[in-house]
Amino acid sequence: MKNIHCKVFGHDYKVTRHVTDHVKEYTCVNCKKQLTTSGNGELTLLTPKFKEINDVLERMHLKRVANQDQERNKAKLRIA
Ligand SMILES: [Zn+2]
Repeated sequence: MKNIHCKVFGHDYKVTRHVTDHVKEYTCVNCKKQLTTSGNGELTLLTPKFKEINDVLERMHLKRVANQDQERNKAKLRIA
């Protein structure tokens, strides 16, 4: 019965996971349907395969952010 709301008003997606700056996962607050941003920037159903891809993307993204911080700290040291 919950899905009636989605049929009438459309899904009400909220961001449930921030994978990278460009890729996010969304969940409908009413029916729990999940979407994610695919490689071409369009929204697609969040399948187990996409979840795996997002895990990898997230790890790569976190590593890159950490590296950037390290580079910034090194730069600071050089200035000091
Ligand atoms: Zn829905």
